[in-house]
Formats: sequence, structure tokens, C-alpha cells
Amino acid sequence: MAEVELRKAWKRYGDIAVIHGIDLQLNSGEFVVFVGPSGCGKSTLLRMIAGLEEISEGEVWIGGRNVSQVEAVDRGIAMVFQSYALYPHMTVEENMSFGLRMSGTPKEEIAKKVDFAAKTLQLDKLLDRTPKNLSGGQRQRVAIGRAIVRDPDVFLFDEPLSNLDAELRVEMRLQIAKLHNQLNATMIYVTHDQVEAMTMADRIVVLKAGHIEQVGSPLELYHHPDNLFVAGFIGSPRMNFLDVTVREGSAAHAIVELPGGGTATLAVDASRATPGSKATLGVRPEDLARESGDFTLPMQVDVAERLGGSTFLYGKCGGMDNFVAQRAGLDTTHDGDTVDILVGADTCYLFDGEGLAYHRLTQSGRAVA
Ligand code: ADP
Ligand code: MG
Repeated sequence: MAEVELRKAWKRYGDIAVIHGIDLQLNSGEFVVFVGPSGCGKSTLLRMIAGLEEISEGEVWIGGRNVSQVEAVDRGIAMVFQSYALYPHMTVEENMSFGLRMSGTPKEEIAKKVDFAAKTLQLDKLLDRTPKNLSGGQRQRVAIGRAIVRDPDVFLFDEPLSNLDAELRVEMRLQIAKLHNQLNATMIYVTHDQVEAMTMADRIVVLKAGHIEQVGSPLELYHHPDNLFVAGFIGSPRMNFLDVTVREGSAAHAIVELPGGGTATLAVDASRATPGSKATLGVRPEDLARESGDFTLPMQVDVAERLGGSTFLYGKCGGMDNFVAQRAGLDTTHDGDTVDILVGADTCYLFDGEGLAYHRLTQSGRAVA
């Protein structure tokens, strides 16, 4: 177990910066997920922590030690990659024990560690197989086993489940979460999949173009996104965004003019808003599945998608062409219908013209202001 810290960490390739002076502190034993769109710098950041990528400026600390100049093998970390990177000619047992054998670890100790990892990952019946005789999920478990036997202070995962099918991803997600509970190790997990981030993380770090957009628990990010980017990235289907105009703002509320007329009073701290300023009202599809509301928005439904337990309506609403509303149960709306969408003021989000959130005064997840 060890805490991990980045201090003004930069990564540049020539003149181009891909990581922009990141400051980040991770607690010992914490499960932290780096999430963001492809190319935002997640792998680079992880590799900088691992020592596989030199940092251009700044420092990396692991377990209270400045490891910026320390070789990867001496940082007390173990990394698991998307491409399992197993030796094809070696058995499961040999793959898992390879690193220990190379470092001259005594035989009994190797046997004990491999046995523990194999039991933990339910690989004990597969020790004599070679990778080509394993399923994708089993191969990924061997790759994780190889990390476990090293007894690292910090586990680093780079999109380890991306090559697996949907069902297996869910299963492996649970297995990694269990592993974290069992080992109590510090884990940093990189993914572009916000569902993985939401379900696995103690804390999520949202990255965009080499900058941190927000750090927080999954529900903090869900209920209190700092900006439009985080609001749009966390949650599935995506939050709907409507263009509105602020009519009046105070520390306790905002009155906004809705697209197509009418107003809504929202429970946000809009003390910094100027009347007449442009803003974005956000509302999540799942928050529209209610029988009552504080205001209504007419929606022209293009497609109604019935999933059995719930229904998704896709269409035009509030000036948006790709509005999504979730309804509970089997909804009788037909394609082409116009329906009234009921919106609860307490479920809304509001962002200023720069995309920064007006702090919400309702919902759980962070101390109410
Ligand atoms: P992610 O893992 O979030 O998809 P990466 O960390 O792999 O993103 O990449 C971040 C950015 O750094 C990308 O724009 C990528 O093109 C750039 N990059 C990565 N490696 C190199 C390299 N060796 N030389 C130049 N640019 C690189
Ligand atoms: Mg990557």
C-alpha cells in the first residue's frame, strides 16, 4: 500500500505538451480511475507514474519517496495492459512466476505466491495451460496474476477489459473490485468507459486534453459536475443540454427563460450570474421518468425504444434535435407523437456561458452549500 502523488507533472513530445502540469494526490489503498476520451493522456499519465515514460518536468512520489528518477522496476508498482502481454510458449504457472524467477526469488516463496494468485483469480485448475488454450477473460486473469505475485504497493491497469465482450467485462469488473477489497492495495485504473469508472472507483479523475477537469467520488461527479464536459461525460445516456437565458440569479436560485417560452426556477447558486446572460440547462434522461414536474417541455418523438423495464424517447425538445427522455415501464408513446415532458426543477443543472457549473443546492453527493 502506498500513496501516489504527482507534482506539477508535465509531459512534452518536442514542443507539444500532452500532460499539462498535473497536481494529484491519491491515498494509500484507494481505487482511483482515470477516465476521459481517447487521446486525452490517460495512458501517458499512468506510464509516467509507472516510470515507463520519462516526465518532462515535475515530480512523481510513491509511498513518500520521490521516484521521478527511479527505474520502473524499483518503483514498487505492477502494471496490467489491455494486450495481456503473456509469453505464448509458457504455461500459466510459468507466465505468472517469470518475474520472480528472473529476480532469483526462492522456489518455495514463488510457489506460495503463485498459489495465492491462482486461487484468488480461480486459475488453479489452469496452471499447466498455455495462453492459446485460454479464453480472453482467463488470459487477462493471468496478466493480473502476474501483477499480484509481485506484491506491488501500487497496481496500474491500462484499459485491461477493453478486449473482452460485454458480459465478461462486467464479470471481470466485479473480480477486480473484489481483488481491491481483498488486497487493500492502491490501484489506478485507466478507462475511456464511464460506466467502469462509475462502478469501480473510490475516486474518479476526469481528464481532457492533458488537463484534469474534475476529481471526485462517482456520485459527486454525477450530482455536482464542475463543468459541461464532466456533466456530458458522466452518465449514460448523456445529459440533455438546452440553451436558456438567465432572467434573475441569487445565491438561492436562478430563474431562466426556456427555449420556446416559459420560465423555470432552479435551485442553484447563481449569485455570479448577470440577468440576460446565456446559460445551459442540463437534465438527465433518467430524471425525466416521473409523474410530476415543476415545468413541462413539449417533445416531438422521433423514435420510442421499448426495453421492457423502461422506454427511451428520442426526438426534438427544447431546441435540441437529439433529446433523450427515459420513461418508467412500458410507455405507450408512438413514433411521431408529441408529448409533454415533465421536469423537476430539483433535477436540473445549470452552467454559465463558459460552461462552468452554478453550484447545485439540491441532491446528495456533496455537502449542500
Ligand atoms: P489515452 O490513453 O488517453 O488515449 P495517450 O496517453 O495514449 O491517450 O495519448 C495522449 C496524447 O499524447 C495523444 O494525443 C497522443 O497522440 C500523444 N502521444 C502519445 N505518445 C506519443 C509519442 N510517443 N509522441 C508524440 N505524441 C504522443
Ligand atoms: Mg490509452
